[in-house]
Amino acid sequence: MSRQQQEARAATGTGAVTDASARLALTATGLAVEIDGARLLEGVDFTAAPGRVHALIGPNGAGKSTLLAALAGDRATAAGTVLLDGTPVAQHAPKALARLRAVLTQEHMVSFPFPVREIVAMGRHPWAGTDAADDDDLAIEAAMAATDVSHLAARTVPSLSGGERARVALARIVAQRTPVLLLDEPTAALDLKHQEDVLRLARAHAAAGATVVVVLHDLNLAAAYADDVTLLRLGRVVATGAPAEVLTAERIEAVYGQPVDVVPHPRTGAPLVLPVR
Ligand code: ADP
Ligand code: MG
Repeated sequence: MSRQQQEARAATGTGAVTDASARLALTATGLAVEIDGARLLEGVDFTAAPGRVHALIGPNGAGKSTLLAALAGDRATAAGTVLLDGTPVAQHAPKALARLRAVLTQEHMVSFPFPVREIVAMGRHPWAGTDAADDDDLAIEAAMAATDVSHLAARTVPSLSGGERARVALARIVAQRTPVLLLDEPTAALDLKHQEDVLRLARAHAAAGATVVVVLHDLNLAAAYADDVTLLRLGRVVATGAPAEVLTAERIEAVYGQPVDVVPHPRTGAPLVLPVR
């Protein structure tokens, strides 16, 4: 087994990905989202392909979470279409949809005093009554191992740190074993190693064929781990493409209002974004 394969296996937990081989594309065309008359998204074209990690970036309020929710089929659209596997996402029955895509939202955590393992096990609900339910225990254990929460299995959620809760929420999504993963700021509360772990996990899922969309604030994580990057601003797509194409100093400064230097990583060559200080 190659080092890469070993890493993929370690990151997902053995057998954590089952349905990724379904290889489902997720595309939005001319997407608009409105709330109370306000346009939160306008004219958004977006494609997430199987086998790839697609990072969504942009300043606070750019519409990243709104786009992710629309892609998930969790938010009504005012115009345009979202196709999951060629079918409008709203036309997939809720239970079927939950077997196709898993969503980590920003306000992810239930604060009920449930044990961690029970929270992770909730990710298995869409599979109840199917053959896949035979794998429930395996999927739960593998997801907890992949997110480094196995040692917290018997703890209750309110007793956890913010970062631990975030990893439990991610474990639940991983346990769902869907071919599409939509992750909204999964690294926000995490320490250095766990941030890298989450992106390695995203890459491992993509390597197994999954379609991964991940909202990130850390442009260096996006540059290092994403195949594709889409930059949003004020509800519109500013740029989409390979990290090195999207992450130019001029564009970042224009969109974020913060001067930056962009230099190649000394070892990998990936863009490194350094705020001018
Ligand atoms: P991001 O995730 O990029 O920070 P969001 O998608 O959460 O941004 O929000 C995009 C914009 O839409 C923000 O300006 C936000 O304040 C606004 N917004 C989000 N939800 C609502 C709502 N329910 N009503 C009005 N405005 C909203
Ligand atoms: Mg957001």
